Amino acid sequence: MRIAAFLPELLRHLFKKPATVDYPFQKLEVPKDFRGTPFLHPEKCIVCRACVRDCPAEAIDILTVNEADKTFKMIIHNDRCIHCAQCVDSCPTDALEMDALYETSAFSRWDLKAEWEFVKAVIKPKTPTAGTPPASATPPAEGAS
Ligand code: SF4
Ligand code: SF4
Repeated sequence: MRIAAFLPELLRHLFKKPATVDYPFQKLEVPKDFRGTPFLHPEKCIVCRACVRDCPAEAIDILTVNEADKTFKMIIHNDRCIHCAQCVDSCPTDALEMDALYETSAFSRWDLKAEWEFVKAVIKPKTPTAGTPPASATPPAEGAS
């Protein structure tokens, strides 16, 4: 009796495609807004450090390599990164992006460190950086109504 009740369900699934994939031989495409691992476009970084300030995992360091040459080094500690993409949202020049990689295991946490050494970019930020009040917060000129 019990088997008979189960039979229609069993037959229905016999002719359906499997719901799973044969990983790791077959891999799924991730969605467009998938939050993989953050990476830097160094040519767009103005070293405002908004990403360092806002990262909830303290996974980003920016070191000064040479003050005179305006050379800096960004290190992203992917062993600490929680893939929240807050750094991407905070960056005023779109210098950070999340990739689509999800196979990021390594034998050592040090292998998960990503580094870029670069010269500070001179480009206009699309949003105000830390310490810059937004345009709407600017008090009106005296006498203006
Ligand atoms: S994705 Fe989140 S946790 Fe990872 S570096 Fe960016 S802000 Fe930090
Ligand atoms: S927020 Fe963007 S521009 Fe600012 S330091 Fe980070 S990556 Fe560079």
